[in-house]
Amino acid sequence: MTGRGCRDGQGNAERKHMIDQEKIRKAVKLLLEGIGEDPDREGLLETPDRVARMYGEILAGMDTDVSQPLSRVFAVDSSEMVLEKDIAFYSMCEHHLMPFYGKAHIAYVPDGKVLGLSKLARTVEVYARRPQLQEQLTVQAVMEYLKPRGVMVLLEAEHMCMTMRGVKKPGSRTVTTAVRGIFETDPLLQERFFHMLGD
Ligand code: ZN
Repeated sequence: MTGRGCRDGQGNAERKHMIDQEKIRKAVKLLLEGIGEDPDREGLLETPDRVARMYGEILAGMDTDVSQPLSRVFAVDSSEMVLEKDIAFYSMCEHHLMPFYGKAHIAYVPDGKVLGLSKLARTVEVYARRPQLQEQLTVQAVMEYLKPRGVMVLLEAEHMCMTMRGVKKPGSRTVTTAVRGIFETDPLLQERFFHMLGD
């Protein structure tokens, strides 16, 4: 196993990083000591193990290759926008390792091929299960693997690192958009995206 791959361009940085449960257990024990807890008291004895297993699940995207959901494509003649909206996701922000969760809406304009149904949702799921920034989720991967004429992604999420600490505004959502390809140069297409979202 090599070290962490380069994070930019997500798609071409595909890699397998098996989660090391033993390291997580040690780290959680240290963390407990660091905050002044006694990791050997009864209530905490199983905690490092529990957290390690939990991370194995919620960060399973580290061990999953995103090219899987994105490789199943079908030929089409149409170049009409395809929109998949309200894809619920749970992720972890890479700045604080705190959850952020919300909905993703992804549109693309095909260039001869479309993805199988639910594959965008599956792609969001893989990326969400890696520590990262909301802005980066999926857009680059869709561009690289599907090679459509354009992609637009809108994400709305509540960040626990904002609502539990700092400004403490429960329920406030961070909305980000990312556009690539034809969406960047065609404001009408962006308008249609927002219109279709509203329907
Ligand atoms: Zn954060």
